[in-house]
Amino acid sequence: MRNMELAQFNMIEQQIRPCEVLEGRILELLKHAHREHFVPTGMKELAFADLEIPLGHGVTMWQPKLEARVVQELHLTRTDKVLEVGTGSGYLTALLSALAGHVTSIEIVPELSAMAKQNLGAYRRDNITLEIGDAAHGWGNDTYDAIVLTGSTPVLPPAFQNSLNVGGRLLAIVGDAPVMEAKLITRVAPDTFETVNIMEACVAPLRNAEQPKRFVF
Ligand code: SAH
Repeated sequence: MRNMELAQFNMIEQQIRPCEVLEGRILELLKHAHREHFVPTGMKELAFADLEIPLGHGVTMWQPKLEARVVQELHLTRTDKVLEVGTGSGYLTALLSALAGHVTSIEIVPELSAMAKQNLGAYRRDNITLEIGDAAHGWGNDTYDAIVLTGSTPVLPPAFQNSLNVGGRLLAIVGDAPVMEAKLITRVAPDTFETVNIMEACVAPLRNAEQPKRFVF
């Protein structure tokens, strides 16, 4: 086994399975997703480590176990229309697009969006749209079957759950460091939402994230 393959095998066995990612199709996807292609040059040997790898512009990739767990919990199907807020390296975009019908991914830093486009180029996926902009409070008027916010938000803006189709799932990491929770919110009926706390997860906040209204004297 080559070093890279061994590192990938160890990542799945030691980081990802213990994080309750046991679905065969997710583990299979991780084996073929080439995380090393999305990690900046010079850091390729860390591609499968239990780390948040820096991408520049003050941004880091998620830990592999969080990416895997989130993708599993979204229960994507081939017809799902997905919105990702925060393209970063494009790696999560690649995972989502392998399971869903179409992924629209928004990034606030144009240079990162350009890097993700290059990283994703090798995959020739025709079901990905990359857009540049600030999506901290929602994005356009379309509705989606799955939405994932890759930056945390102290308060979840209602626009995101209102952009879900019935049956749609929203994955958001809500709270202030160091106490944050990855939440899965499902729109079970037009006016009914169910929230499940998936796991504790602390990631950097979205730029311009919604803040709680502070009491002012
Ligand atoms: N999914 C990424 C992780 C990205 S980290 C990966 O696999 O690499 C979060 C990303 O969200 C960063 O790229 C950051 O620039 C972007 N971001 C932060 N605030 C944003 C906002 N308001 N709108 C859109 N993207 C934002």
